[in-house]
Order: sequence, then C-alpha cells, then structure tokens
Amino acid sequence: MSNEILISEVGPRDGLQSIKPVMPLAAKRAWISALANAGVREIEVGSFVPAHILPQLADTAEVVAHARTIAGLTVAVLVPNLKGAEAAVKSGAHKITIPLSCSESHSLKNVRRTHAQMLDETRNIVALIRAQPAAQRPKFEGGLSTAFGCTIEGIVPADTVVRLAEEMMAAGCDEVGLSDTTGYANPVQVKDLVRRVKRAVGDQNLSGLHLHNTRGLGFANVIAGLDVGITTFDSSMAGLGGCPFAPGASGNIVTEDLVFMLEAMGLATGIDLPQLLAVRKILSDALPGEQLYGFTPDAGLPLGFSPATKRSAAA
Ligand code: ZN
Repeated sequence: MSNEILISEVGPRDGLQSIKPVMPLAAKRAWISALANAGVREIEVGSFVPAHILPQLADTAEVVAHARTIAGLTVAVLVPNLKGAEAAVKSGAHKITIPLSCSESHSLKNVRRTHAQMLDETRNIVALIRAQPAAQRPKFEGGLSTAFGCTIEGIVPADTVVRLAEEMMAAGCDEVGLSDTTGYANPVQVKDLVRRVKRAVGDQNLSGLHLHNTRGLGFANVIAGLDVGITTFDSSMAGLGGCPFAPGASGNIVTEDLVFMLEAMGLATGIDLPQLLAVRKILSDALPGEQLYGFTPDAGLPLGFSPATKRSAAA
C-alpha cells in the first residue's frame, strides 16, 4: 500500500500550546500512541521553549522519549532558537523545525529577532546538527510562518517569502515549509506562492503546508496545494485550541476532516478513519470542557464510505 499524502499531526504542539489547561504527560503519551496506532506517521509532539513561556509543553523531552519508542513514527519538534535545538538534538527528535516569520514585525514581536538574527540562529543550528554523528542528525526544516499575511503588517509580499525561502536553504536547512499562521491564505495565493517557492528552492525542498481554518478556507487551500504537487499537510486533531481571532473557528485545519476529504477523494493517507475518530475520546477525557472541532466527527461517515486506505484486518 502506498501512502500518497503525509499528514503531520501538530495537535500535541500547536493545539496544546493554544489552550490554558496543561495536558498530563500520561495523557499525551496515550494520545500520541493512539494516533500512531490509527496510522499517523508523523507527529509534532512539542516545542523546546522555556517552561515559563509555555508550561503546556514543559515536558517535551519526556514526550519525545515516549514517541521515539513507537516504530515507524517520525517525531518532530519545534525550536525557537539554538538553545531549543540543543535540547531537541539531545532528546533524539527525528525532525526539527525553526519558525521564521516572513513578517519582520511579527518576528520582532514574537521572538525579538530580526530576519538577519534568525538566519544567524539557523546557521548555528545547522552547525550543531552537522556536528552530530551522521546517523543521529535530525532533519531540519525552516518553517516560513506568516507566509500568506500578517496581523501586524497585513500583506506579506511573495517576493519576501521567496527570498527568505532561498536564504533558509542557503543557511543549511534541509527543506522549507509554508505556514498560513494567520488564516489569511486563499487558494489562488496558495498555488502562486507554492509555485514560486518551488521554482526558487527546487521542487523537493518545499516540504509542506501548514494551514489554518480561521476564515473557513483551510480545505480549499489544501485542494489548491494538492493541485500544485504538495503532498504533506499539517493538521490538528479536533482543531484543538481554536482560533483566538475568530471565535467558533478551529485553529489548524482539523485532522479528522482532512483525512475524510483525502480518503474520499481516493488519496491514501495510511490512516484508519474510524480508529482515528475514536482517539478523540482521549482528548475529551484529558481536557474536560475544551471545545473539540470537526465536522466529520459530528456528522459521522457517509453511508458506503470507501476510504482509499485499506488496512488489512490481519495486521
Ligand atoms: Zn499553526
């Protein structure tokens, strides 16, 4: 069975960092194991940031240690700087992403660093990774955030995004990804920017899209991404965390709805949808009162639904 689309589940990082309650470590472990059991092959399990900034993710090293015991799972983490990358390398994460905000005002506000400073930090992380034994080097992604627009600057010129993508690759990243952090993207823009970034850095070096559903265009933007050859999408189970700017809207696109759409379209994700839907129980138990989003979980699967992913019952 070939899995045509890779879904990278970011709920344990993007979702949990957006809510107040701290999910207990045992529940995080159970959630990640259950996701992997349902067929999820890549999970961003946390972020190496100081505990006083994000207490929700303070146990990321322990979460990575658990996730690494799951065969076949790519364990991804986010790092804001070299210090975070040192912790990430030490933890044994398979993939590290450093976010670089394409809007410099956003970068200054969030991490108090200019683009030049972030590129320096990126080069330092590359040096750290290259100093590791070859077999232990994590994959290193430059995550271009606010790539489709910024809540401070408004329009982020595509030229800026393309230039930063080139600079991140030149700094030594293995690949770059595009994030619609603010939910500003529309399908025409997605196609245009993906094409331009691919042309600049090479087809294989634009790894994926991180889309939000702030204005309801998340899935239209997935289709646009598919049309221009994107095969990796970030999403979050239950759209956990919602969107602080748009009450009622999920934050990240919802994994359950994404799997439903792709599988119904004949695109295999390797994920067993009924099994995935059952995993939500872990969230509702561990985070009582937290809103869980998703249309497919509420509506149920259509009669006669025939997913592209057929998992053998004998497995
Ligand atoms: Zn996000």
